[in-house]
Amino acid sequence: MPAIPHDPDPPTPVSLPNLLARSAARFANRPAVDFFGRKLTYAGLGRQVERAALGLQKLGVRRGTRVGLCLPNTPYFIIAYFAVLKAGGIVVNFNPLYVEREIAQQIRDSGTTIMVTLDVKKVYSKIAAMLEVTDLERIVVCSMRASLPFAKGVLFALFKSAELAEIPKDARHVRFSDLVAARATFEPVDLDPTSDVAVLQYTGGTTGVPKGAMLTHANLSMNVAQIACHVPILTPGRERALLILPLFHVFGMTAGMNFCISIGAEIILLPTFDVHQVLSVVTKKRPTLLPGVPSLFAALTARVGDGKYDLSSINYCISGGAPLPLDVRLRFESLSGCKLVEGYGLTEASPVVSANPLDAEYKNTSVGFPLIGTSVEIRSLDDPKKILPLGEKGEICLRGPQIMAGYWRNAKETESVFVDGALRTGDVGYVDEGGYLYLVDRIKDLILCGGFNVYPRVIEEALHQHPAVAEAAVIGVPDAYRGQVPKAFVTLRPGAEATPEALLRFLRDYVSRMEMPKSVEIRQSLPKTAIGKISRKELAAAPQGGAQAH
Ligand code: AMP
Repeated sequence: MPAIPHDPDPPTPVSLPNLLARSAARFANRPAVDFFGRKLTYAGLGRQVERAALGLQKLGVRRGTRVGLCLPNTPYFIIAYFAVLKAGGIVVNFNPLYVEREIAQQIRDSGTTIMVTLDVKKVYSKIAAMLEVTDLERIVVCSMRASLPFAKGVLFALFKSAELAEIPKDARHVRFSDLVAARATFEPVDLDPTSDVAVLQYTGGTTGVPKGAMLTHANLSMNVAQIACHVPILTPGRERALLILPLFHVFGMTAGMNFCISIGAEIILLPTFDVHQVLSVVTKKRPTLLPGVPSLFAALTARVGDGKYDLSSINYCISGGAPLPLDVRLRFESLSGCKLVEGYGLTEASPVVSANPLDAEYKNTSVGFPLIGTSVEIRSLDDPKKILPLGEKGEICLRGPQIMAGYWRNAKETESVFVDGALRTGDVGYVDEGGYLYLVDRIKDLILCGGFNVYPRVIEEALHQHPAVAEAAVIGVPDAYRGQVPKAFVTLRPGAEATPEALLRFLRDYVSRMEMPKSVEIRQSLPKTAIGKISRKELAAAPQGGAQAH
């Protein structure tokens, strides 16, 4: 499998605190973070991280201590993330919108003893409850007001409430401002990038039960180096990235935060997604980079054409996490004048595996070439020991420096996700003669329809050919006769009209009889995950309604 040899010196693994230290030295006076106009330089970020790391050491953080971050996109996230790592700890990322049951489950599984969170009532109250029901010992509380005096609107948009919590004055609570006020000498921790785990990143993986992917410092630092080799057009110390992707998600963490830090880019942080706000920020702050998921680009495309906004500063956008519809890519590129490149990744691979090239042909339905140092094997769905020849469809299996060390305290799942040392992705795909990788679908999303494998993505792509369709998702629903049948859910473009019956008629020219959905349901919106992927799980939980196919 060819990898693109962009860089004659292969990247070497470093610890993440070293990644930051290098940029803090090289780009000291450059802005590292811009949060609603409040800026922090690289040197300032380095100092804050060192102080917070010292504070964490004083709280007892040692090599391997698990420290949770339950924070939306704020500068606190970046400072706390690097501080935990510098103190030798392991970051456990928590989604602040999780319910208490999910948070408790993740705290117990990871053995998190300290949690860094916000003083916003809706988030803090969930974490405070954990002091009673889990082994969580301490909460470090960051003040939203201190980071953003005019934060009410942002908080409201995020949590549907701007109410701040009363923080008890006891030994179990530490204010972030006190954490960074500690005065003593920081004791450097000698991290081994290849064996020290940096992050436990929880994922449903292929079986649905949340597991902590152990991502080492080497996994994460090599993934950013691999991305840099793939995108040789960027200038270190000159770029400015708009990060709306949540940093607690692996895509935002690596392709957003860590990558920006490695190249000394300025990070413009937004904690919420609001189309007008994003377009206004782009127009005003002129970022050069915008990583996102397809739904972000689709939403921007729908609004950008009215002439009020200027996206001309953006040079490079990478989309990942879910299929990028071709029409969204082409429309976004023509409206913004920038490159929108589709990539592929998964939590267990830190996450970036492949991306379309900038210096070779862009193949429309492909997720591009594997990053440097990554090898792809396509293995038989019936016998994973068997590697298939080029062009044949099978399970995508991976080797490379970004592949996780395993699942945290879960030898059974770890064993089943590797075959002959290669990571099984649970994705079906193939590689063409030119070395381009194509995704067909996820094994678990396959619809077993009367003995045939139906790939929902084929039907979704067909629906995207219809001019009225904005978003499409297809799931399998139970059927007495065929076991399972496809059912489609769509949203329409603003102002467009179509009926379910018309969409079903349209599909007849694009998909086989076996792939014809039993029904199409038109909704105002489709449920999304924290990062903005369409949530099939939620659709499957309530799949009623829609016109029937005849
Ligand atoms: P997660 O680990 O939650 O980030 O999910 C990773 C999964 O998202 C992969 O295993 C793929 O099934 C899917 N995925 C990622 N990138 C793409 C893409 N470009 N097109 C289609 N599916 C994707």
